[in-house]
Amino acid sequence: MSDVVAAPHGGPGAPVIGTPWTGCATRVALLGAGEIGKEVAIALTRLGVEVTAVDRYEGAPAQQVAHNALTVDMGDPAALTAAVLSSGADVVVPEIEALATDALVALEAGGRVRVVPTARAVQLTMNREGIRRLAAEELGLATSPYAFASGPQELARAAQDVGFPCVVKPVTSSSGHGQSVVRGPEELAAAWRHAADDGRVDRGRVIVEGFVDFDAEVTLLTVRSRDPRTGGTVTGFCAPIGHRQVGGDYVESWQPQALAPVVLEQARAVAQRVTEALGGWGVFGVELFVRGEKVLFSEVSPRPHDTGLVTLASQHLNEFELHARALLGLPVDTSLRCPGASVTIRAGGDSAPGQGVSFAGVEAALAVEGVDLRLFGKPEAHPGRRLGVVVACAEDVGTARARAATAAASVRPSV
Ligand code: AMP
Repeated sequence: MSDVVAAPHGGPGAPVIGTPWTGCATRVALLGAGEIGKEVAIALTRLGVEVTAVDRYEGAPAQQVAHNALTVDMGDPAALTAAVLSSGADVVVPEIEALATDALVALEAGGRVRVVPTARAVQLTMNREGIRRLAAEELGLATSPYAFASGPQELARAAQDVGFPCVVKPVTSSSGHGQSVVRGPEELAAAWRHAADDGRVDRGRVIVEGFVDFDAEVTLLTVRSRDPRTGGTVTGFCAPIGHRQVGGDYVESWQPQALAPVVLEQARAVAQRVTEALGGWGVFGVELFVRGEKVLFSEVSPRPHDTGLVTLASQHLNEFELHARALLGLPVDTSLRCPGASVTIRAGGDSAPGQGVSFAGVEAALAVEGVDLRLFGKPEAHPGRRLGVVVACAEDVGTARARAATAAASVRPSV
């Protein structure tokens, strides 16, 4: 727990929060209304903030709990600008990467809104090239070897430079979309096609990274928030989160992930450097690979991270509450409540249009000790789509993981 401090009631710059749907409302436009956005919306509404949830389709999870909902193509700069302005938002909170970030930069520069954490951070991190060059070339942080390519021939050269095995990823993608592990030159053509077909936005450009044979993969949730004592910015760290990915997408996470003190110290130093360079207030999910006593920077989300869903069970303030507080300029508490784990619930098939998804086995899942459940309310399912998550706490991480796995196995989505 952080020290108890005498509150400097209402010092210069101290936040003031209004009342939703009135002239004094504190308004947030949430760009992306998925499961992460839904929890952020809940945390913000609890603090009296008026939330407008924006997504590309109607009935998205956060739209179900926000005050207002807008459905627009957020990749279209004019549509995105119009949506933000019509919401009357003072603060814009991006929840996804595929956004017309130039429009956010322009809105912020015009002084109309504050983008969380900053428009530049959102722009740099939506593109793997921007964030990798910042981390490795400007900040000098250790990363896997890498190169970029804009066509099959450049890819062949880049892969030769980096070496095999390597990982090919579209520069704009997340959750494993369009990503391939390449073992030799004969697999490069397929990797290029996969990146072009399955990237979120096809820019015809990929990053080639050396394959890291890591001991652990860690998310270090890092919070930049206003220091109530000074009005300046302080950086806090949550306990490290370990996770397991299948096909580049997270299936299970746990907290705390045990790390040697020297590794934890390095991880925090890396996270501090990269989040300081991005600036602003909010939660950042700093993704790191640990190999022996070495920490390699992988990437960073300037927002709560999907592996951080575990904090719904494991922390005094979960990552969504931390984000809400930090972005409003309020103090945070990053401490662990108990060891915890999360396991995702995924769709097995496609839902019929308008039919939704039904979940059996919820009763059995919630009968498992220490377990809680989030069903995201996504109106459509397709194979592998994340529809919910089980979180669990226990006296140790092993027990929490076992509880979460048992409960998640009980929940059966049917489409
Ligand atoms: P990303 O979308 O970059 O977070 O990648 C998704 C997942 O793929 C990571 O969480 C890792 O499990 C795996 N991965 C990505 N890059 C590498 C790499 N260079 N070496 C080994 N595994 C990787």
